[in-house]
Amino acid sequence: MYPRVEIDLNKLRDNTKFLADLSQKSGIKIMAVSKVYCAIPELVKVQVEGGAEYIADSRIENLKKIKDIKVKKVLLRIPMQSQADEVVEYADYSQNSELETIKLLGQAALKKGKTHKVILMVDLGDLREGIWPSDVDHFVSEAIKIQGIKIVGFGVNLTCYGGVIPDENNLGQLVEIALKMKERYSLDLEIISGGNSSSLYLLLEGRLPKGINNLRFGEALVLGRETAYGNMVEGLHKDIFVLKAEIIELKEKPSVPIGNIGMDAFGQKPYFEDKGIMKRAILAMGRQDIDPNGLIPVDKNISIVGASSDHTILDLTNCEKEYKVGDVVEFYMEYGALLRAMTSEYVKKIFV
Ligand SMILES: *Cc1c(COP(=O)(O)O)cnc(C)c1O
Repeated sequence: MYPRVEIDLNKLRDNTKFLADLSQKSGIKIMAVSKVYCAIPELVKVQVEGGAEYIADSRIENLKKIKDIKVKKVLLRIPMQSQADEVVEYADYSQNSELETIKLLGQAALKKGKTHKVILMVDLGDLREGIWPSDVDHFVSEAIKIQGIKIVGFGVNLTCYGGVIPDENNLGQLVEIALKMKERYSLDLEIISGGNSSSLYLLLEGRLPKGINNLRFGEALVLGRETAYGNMVEGLHKDIFVLKAEIIELKEKPSVPIGNIGMDAFGQKPYFEDKGIMKRAILAMGRQDIDPNGLIPVDKNISIVGASSDHTILDLTNCEKEYKVGDVVEFYMEYGALLRAMTSEYVKKIFV
């Protein structure tokens, strides 16, 4: 059945073990971030086997899927107040930046006879989530009064909205804030979490500020890449996920449409370069399944012409291989395309 993503579980386990072992040497425990693959239990299991101390996801629906897997579970996205009960039920930890929400988590936890662990996010300039540094002291002084929760850590997220690269300066600031709060409020701190796959380069170069004891890796584990500069990391597999789709039409056609050009299926005015007659293949796969901009054909002579909801058009003119209707074409995926493929219910997931 196509389209499908074939997932090599052994390679995912290898990558997790590689980064968990490397991190361990610097006194760092890793959170394996499962959101890009929607926390499919089979994948989570191999990440736990590979040494991920925590599994972290942005959605409570995903953590719910793995409730029976014995591992510490972390909700990455700031919780919705409307989901306080579910957060406390399915996540052992959540990352937070709003006092009112933490109060609701506390109430929900008390009702269940639990203590929910809270990691406070600090905004060090990327301008997505986090408490502003000058507000942290006041925030903590209020948060420690809340029953049912325990502040166990501080964290920062960078290179997501603002593209800010983690360095000694901003991560040093996180450590300084965390240690000051630990001292001032006698916190029992388990976690100082220095970011996502964009912090990996600091670990590799031995430049991670002392005090950081946790990193949250998604893309690095699944695609083998650090995300501050986009470099592939030696020792990590890059080909864990392979997308396969089937050719349903293959014909020679011109490269420029014939007639007056209006809008395409997505309301954009398309532009065409005249490359003469092309050998064009249509795949039974479209934007409902993938992001055509994030596909990397395994056959390097293939180029992607475009895609609508259910069709992807390829240019096979330069291919050495003689493709025919019914053949299957393979792709590696960038993060956005992988996310879409894993999320689409029309794309089968096969473990190899
Ligand atoms: C998605 C996410 C991560 C993982 O990011 P990668 O770049 O995939 O490693 C870490 N932390 C938070 C808060 C996230 O939302």
